[in-house]
Amino acid sequence: MTGPRYTPLVDSLPATVPFVGPETQERAMGQGFRARLGANESVFGPSPKVVAAMAEAARGSWMYGDPENHDLRQALAAHEGVAPENIIIGEGIDGLLGYLVRMVTAGPADHIVTSDGAYPTFNYHVAGFGGTMHKVAYRDDHEDPAALLAKAGEVAAKLIYFANPDNPMGSWHPRAVVEEMVAQVPAGSLLVLDEAYGQFLPPEDLPRIDPSDPRVIRFRTFSKAYGMAGARVGYGIAAPELITAFNKVRNHFGMSRVSQAGACAALDDGAYLADTIGKVRDAVARIGQIAAENGLTALPSAANFVAIDCGRDGAFAKAVLDGLVARGIFVRMPFVAPQNRCIRISAGEKADLEVLAQALPDALAAARTGV
Ligand SMILES: *Cc1c(COP(=O)(O)O)cnc(C)c1O
Repeated sequence: MTGPRYTPLVDSLPATVPFVGPETQERAMGQGFRARLGANESVFGPSPKVVAAMAEAARGSWMYGDPENHDLRQALAAHEGVAPENIIIGEGIDGLLGYLVRMVTAGPADHIVTSDGAYPTFNYHVAGFGGTMHKVAYRDDHEDPAALLAKAGEVAAKLIYFANPDNPMGSWHPRAVVEEMVAQVPAGSLLVLDEAYGQFLPPEDLPRIDPSDPRVIRFRTFSKAYGMAGARVGYGIAAPELITAFNKVRNHFGMSRVSQAGACAALDDGAYLADTIGKVRDAVARIGQIAAENGLTALPSAANFVAIDCGRDGAFAKAVLDGLVARGIFVRMPFVAPQNRCIRISAGEKADLEVLAQALPDALAAARTGV
């Protein structure tokens, strides 16, 4: 026999990734998208100060990055009002989720809970480490805290995944609900609070959580509000013991110097962040207006994207999505019914949304006639 002898688990898994990238679609189409509104990136880009800091750091790219991410960790601790010992930095939330799942999952006896249709990269990691996934339904297009907690208690879950605000729906729960959720985490479970879109909530609406509470880890990222998805910088806030445990498995040199420098500069430019958040708010409103002009309903969103209810089933929403893609607009949609009656559109520049406004009526008409 030649070749690697894969584990039975790897042998059993499909060779897929959770998201087909827009680049893959562009290669298949033989042309680029006119508007890139599908991955909740920030089309407004990083601050010019971030770009300058990254360019400067690029000269030092012959050196590995600081494996302790010291400067960024200190800056994040100050920014979040926690101790550096409460902060883990890694290759985006996606990378950190992988480490976390690995730390608690050795096989099918390890049970994990999420919502059916929630962020798929988490599920991908659980599958990759062989855990048993349990999914609870959304309730009124929101993740359902009570159902998640009940299922976690029932199956003695090690992890409970919960995104607030949620992707793909953009829905969110008030601070008090999340705080109560932390209080109700069953013994032996860890709440994985994914706050990828946390910066878009008014600060007073973010839950107050003791950073050293052993029942929860909250994740944040520079990918969305800071406009740095391609730099791959995320962080977790948790009890020092859990933060230390990441050091047993993480890729020590996973963070480039360029990314570390860029994230430090981003934290220093609060004015740019505030400006971006304002532009996102305007774009979200404009997307709502475009939906309404086409007789569709935009769901309320606390994030940098909008789920638009196409008013029929998943097949119809998929036809609308295909129509937009065919007209050069990159968008995505929820995977699971009934949320898959929606398409999901990220905030864009005015020009991007103009492209959308022009294409949507045609895409809808084509979907209605089945063309
Ligand atoms: C975009 C997104 C992420 C990915 O964050 P990275 O830091 O880029 O890995 C994680 N969770 C949710 C809910 C997201 O929407």
